Amino acid sequence: MNPQFETYLHNYVRLGVRVGVNLQPGQSLVIQAPTTALELVRLAAKEAYAAGARYVHVEWNDDPLTRIRYEMAPEESFGDGPALRAHNYDRLIERDAAFLSLVSANPDLLTGIDPDRVQRATKAMRSAMSNFYDGVRTDKFSWSILAVPSEVWADKMFGHEPAEKRMGLLWDAIFQATRADRDDPVGAWTAHLKQLQEKSDYLNGKRYRALHYVAPGTDLVVELADDHLWVAGDSINEKGTMFVANMPTEEVFTAPKKDGVNGTVRSTKPLNYAGTLIEDFAFTFKDGKIVDFAAAKGGETLQRLLDTDEGARYLGEAALVPHRSPISDTGLIFYNTLFDENASNHLAIGSAYAFSVEGGKSMTKEQLAAKGLNDSLTHVDFMIGSADMSIDGIAADGSREPIFRGGNWAI
Ligand code: ZN
Ligand code: ZN
Repeated sequence: MNPQFETYLHNYVRLGVRVGVNLQPGQSLVIQAPTTALELVRLAAKEAYAAGARYVHVEWNDDPLTRIRYEMAPEESFGDGPALRAHNYDRLIERDAAFLSLVSANPDLLTGIDPDRVQRATKAMRSAMSNFYDGVRTDKFSWSILAVPSEVWADKMFGHEPAEKRMGLLWDAIFQATRADRDDPVGAWTAHLKQLQEKSDYLNGKRYRALHYVAPGTDLVVELADDHLWVAGDSINEKGTMFVANMPTEEVFTAPKKDGVNGTVRSTKPLNYAGTLIEDFAFTFKDGKIVDFAAAKGGETLQRLLDTDEGARYLGEAALVPHRSPISDTGLIFYNTLFDENASNHLAIGSAYAFSVEGGKSMTKEQLAAKGLNDSLTHVDFMIGSADMSIDGIAADGSREPIFRGGNWAI
């Protein structure tokens, strides 16, 4: 075990409370966490009270219990939403709580369970908790997600290492990727967020009409939506407090114009989708639509993704991420989008975010479509960045300026 483990663990929790939800004195904190994260939750509660929290409420979830319910509860119960939890959350939202989610991926949790049960339970949960999910979607309150290692995840990343070492290696990778291994992690994040903000301000000032991506296997022109906005990883809640919803975050992103994407693009990292790895794939675009694709592995799954609906053949996000970052410097593939999408330039198949255009949060679907935003039930990031990638910004008059050279920012 890393001799610095306790220090880094404390740093990690500190980042979640002080930067992630950026807890303000007098606020309450809701921590959603798996039962495997007991130690982390206690540390987070301490950190929250030290930051001036009024009350720390913990909402536990337990994978084996979840599975027991799906296996044994009567059919009619899957239409019942979590009424008590929803009631608590509504009160906590009224009292200005912040929400910190500790998330431990377990893709095999529901293997073999009737998908209809899962779908009904998810729908009932979403509908009971609609105030909470609407608040997340519109940044009403501060919320943030931190990853917690699980054995399945550690096995996936470090299967070639002795079993007893894997969890420690995964923790080390997470500490490095989130800057929890720095002497002053909160200071490092403040500087990092400022830099991302400078990039998005620069790009917003330029108002490029399109981006031109060039790399081995990639020659792609992506027009940007009308009145597009570049957005960095920090958000502002209703009270005007800054928070960081995803840690790590390295991206600056906006929305492509739905019918304005032409050329070919090659993936540079595997995509973990619906429990399957899709590897070494490429798309050809014509007027925004994916008209051809190939994949060395997982082609059938990719086909199913593209067939989700009409919008699943179009793009909804163009994100710029330098090739060099604490995540890429680990040299690891995390098989977890929270990390992998932040280590590489990426695009997303599917829906665009309303806040990617000016005033978008208060627009109707029709108004967003008129700006060129794509709509779909799905949104899946795929990675295209490499040390060989160049990106030019194309201005309204057709002139070009370098944005990326050799995989890194040129601005
Ligand atoms: Zn992204
Ligand atoms: Zn995305």
